[in-house]
Amino acid sequence: MSLFATKNKPAETYAFTLSDAEWHQRLTPEQYKVMRGHGTERACTSPLNAEKRQGVYHCAGCAHPLFDTDAKFESGTGWPSFFQPIDPAAVATSEDRAYGMLRVEVHCSQCGSHLGHVFPDGPPPTGQRYCMNGVSLEFEPAASSRA
Ligand SMILES: [Zn+2]
Repeated sequence: MSLFATKNKPAETYAFTLSDAEWHQRLTPEQYKVMRGHGTERACTSPLNAEKRQGVYHCAGCAHPLFDTDAKFESGTGWPSFFQPIDPAAVATSEDRAYGMLRVEVHCSQCGSHLGHVFPDGPPPTGQRYCMNGVSLEFEPAASSRA
């Protein structure tokens, strides 16, 4: 029996947690800057912008499934964009007041890594535009043998 068995959930814990040193090891310097330092990759630099195959986009930090191709659209912004996550619980959001703007920051619900921002100017059916950093995502093409 332990005192730690009580249901005591601190606000900022994630199922997948690493130390800062471990994140440095796991991620490339560019990924670390974006995902752990809330940076933004340069527009039009991600190969995922042109990715059109069916498949699933995973968190580059913890492999959590975040988006799928069915929700991807060409936003013209230079960042991979989706109108909804693969599951409403896949991502979480917070207020970002950097640069004198109020934006909604999006992060992985499993490891807390920064992914991008969501804006209310997306296409139907949701009207949402999840503007993601390509370096935060890892694309896994669907098995081509299956229809
Ligand atoms: Zn993650």
